[in-house]
Amino acid sequence: MKIHAFKAFLTMALFTGISSVWAQTPASTGTPVNNYNYHDAFAPNFYTKNGTSTRTASGQPGVDYWQNRADYQLTVKLNNTTNELVGTDEITYTNNSPDKMSFLWLYLDQNLFKNDSRGNAVVPLTGSRNGAQGQVFDGGNKIKSVKIISGGKTKTEVTAKYIITDTRMQIFLPQELAAKGGSVKVKIEFSFIAPFEGSDRMGVLETKNGKIFTIAQWYPRMCVYDDVKGWNTAPYLGASEFYLEYGNFDVKITAPANHYVVGSGELVNGVEVLSAEQLKRYKEAQQSDKTVVIRSAAEVASTANTNATAEKTWHYRITNARDFSWASSPAFILDGAKINLPSGKKSLALSAYPVESSGNDAWSRSTEYVKASIENYSKRWFEYPYPAATNVAGNEGGMEYPGIVFCGWESKGEDLWGVTDHEFGHIWFPMIVGSNERYFAWMDEGFNTFINSVSSVDFNKGEYKQKAEDLHENAEYYTSPKLETVLSSPDNMKERNIGVLCYAKPSAGLVMLREQILGEERFDKALRTYVERWAYKHPTPDDFFRTIENVAGEDLSWFWRSWFINNWRFDQGINSIKYVKNDPAKGVVITVENFDKIPMPIVLDVKTKSGKVTRVKLPVEIWQRNNSWSFKHNSTEEIESVTLDPDHVFPDYNESNNVWKAGNGKIEKDIVLDAYIGKYVTANSPLTVELSEKNSVLNAELPNYPKFSLDPVANEKDTFESGRAGVKLKFNEAKTGFDMTLTGNGQVIPFTKK
Ligand SMILES: [Zn+2]
Repeated sequence: MKIHAFKAFLTMALFTGISSVWAQTPASTGTPVNNYNYHDAFAPNFYTKNGTSTRTASGQPGVDYWQNRADYQLTVKLNNTTNELVGTDEITYTNNSPDKMSFLWLYLDQNLFKNDSRGNAVVPLTGSRNGAQGQVFDGGNKIKSVKIISGGKTKTEVTAKYIITDTRMQIFLPQELAAKGGSVKVKIEFSFIAPFEGSDRMGVLETKNGKIFTIAQWYPRMCVYDDVKGWNTAPYLGASEFYLEYGNFDVKITAPANHYVVGSGELVNGVEVLSAEQLKRYKEAQQSDKTVVIRSAAEVASTANTNATAEKTWHYRITNARDFSWASSPAFILDGAKINLPSGKKSLALSAYPVESSGNDAWSRSTEYVKASIENYSKRWFEYPYPAATNVAGNEGGMEYPGIVFCGWESKGEDLWGVTDHEFGHIWFPMIVGSNERYFAWMDEGFNTFINSVSSVDFNKGEYKQKAEDLHENAEYYTSPKLETVLSSPDNMKERNIGVLCYAKPSAGLVMLREQILGEERFDKALRTYVERWAYKHPTPDDFFRTIENVAGEDLSWFWRSWFINNWRFDQGINSIKYVKNDPAKGVVITVENFDKIPMPIVLDVKTKSGKVTRVKLPVEIWQRNNSWSFKHNSTEEIESVTLDPDHVFPDYNESNNVWKAGNGKIEKDIVLDAYIGKYVTANSPLTVELSEKNSVLNAELPNYPKFSLDPVANEKDTFESGRAGVKLKFNEAKTGFDMTLTGNGQVIPFTKK
């Protein structure tokens, strides 16, 4: 009877012990404060919704994925004196959605530059790059007519009703547009005066040989209708960029005859607009790996100030693009070179810049940069799809469009490489992978900044290679409590935080993921897959997270939560070391604590007295249920130092606890367990308790029970306990026996050594 009662009680103690361990909250370590909560970091159900038939759980476009389409025929005429542009915008809009439509939404981005625009209202008094920088002029779109065109051979044009609200225009359709393939043609006559500084994305720059017009956000553009929000109509306020549909563009630009016009895509009528000599050089450039001058400084000087009343019309075309931009100037020097693509196809790198920007330390190397940048990204991520890539010197800091970018005319050397490589990197994000920039700038700026970091290592044997980032130095910059989260939209964060939150922080996150968490091969494969899956489509943040997790085969919810969803902080520290049995020859136990919200793998260097350094790496999983972690390292001599994150690859904002040093670091006493080991019996029952030792831990074994470990009780000599088993063992001085207390009921059973 008694033995049964004893067994039953112990079984119960084992069970309640186990369940109470599960329910335990992490023990506080006193000072310093530990903010880590492993349940927050590793909680299940990261995704707030399951996959759908349009966006699957694995991060792919689903079988029912749809996307609408906008094809544009644009004509425009530039007035070199008044800076006015007058044009016609003919849009063929195809509704592939499952919904009927009775109205359309378009963007009129030039309305940002109207005096009373919402964007102007939110520009602070100082320190902003947005808006028209105080220029007083008659800005904004003037809409002359909006018509719906129907019919095949016998075209009819019906004037449509529309409402303009700030930078948006809603057009009401005379007939409902059918779902799943319905198509409508809209024709809009528009004009506007180009601002000198167009929110740092377009503008007019005066040079000695005439004005440079860099023209963008210039024609009424379709808003995106998607399966996420329906119509995406968030206004253009300045800070947040764009979200646009794909389609083909056919564009005719009329400018004074002494201008050279460059644009997105392919020049269709070179024969008409170029001189015979220029056309010959243009074709030479298409075959040459070395830069060929197509329009020289001397030619610019001879025609720049001619009284040009005559005009030329330049015809450009680009297919499968989300936008069209262009630039025009009598001041343009033009040079070009061939771009070699992985498939064997060729494209053409071009640079257009004024004589003020020329020189081998400046824009005369631009074409070399464009070619290198595009060849590299094509090789690493996805092949460049457009027939040309043009870099234009303008008064923007740097701005990207399909097949054409505007970079600062004063940029030189490494700066010019950096901005050119960055703006052309945008061809991949967001021009090919068409994410919603208005809300998720990190998905284009951040991803692009990341691919730029790899590109700069590759370029010209590392000519402009940056030294590896010190994440300890930058930890405060990335995780200051004053920051919003990476997932905030640029319109929803302080303008000064855009640089870190949209560019540097997401990029540093991808570098960590690539170099520390997944490794280059797995990460690159996952990112390439994301680009391939979502090329010319509209991915959301979840589509990205799911693709990376599915291709790499890891649950990275802890990482997304730490770095993207929340603005968490990271601080690992070394508490103490302990020699096994107090003998350095037998190895060392090292205890690391995670003090703040972000978990990360452990990387540390152990240096012994003789100078030998060993690197130890532990996976992030150790933090799934622990705030501190002890592990044994098989060293055979005294430890000189232990250094956490020796390469500064994790954003540890508190470096003061990262190094343990002999002399001032804490060495804990190991309790030598030899004396306790053995078999113990009790007079009360035929039960035997066997105590053994493994890795300095005392283990107990009873017949028919799971083995459990015993921890020394602080400040109680020769005493051990197991919360799990619900027992406490107090040895006598001679270690010839112990009293076992059942912590559940306080019953004491004496055992003696066999
Ligand atoms: Zn950018």
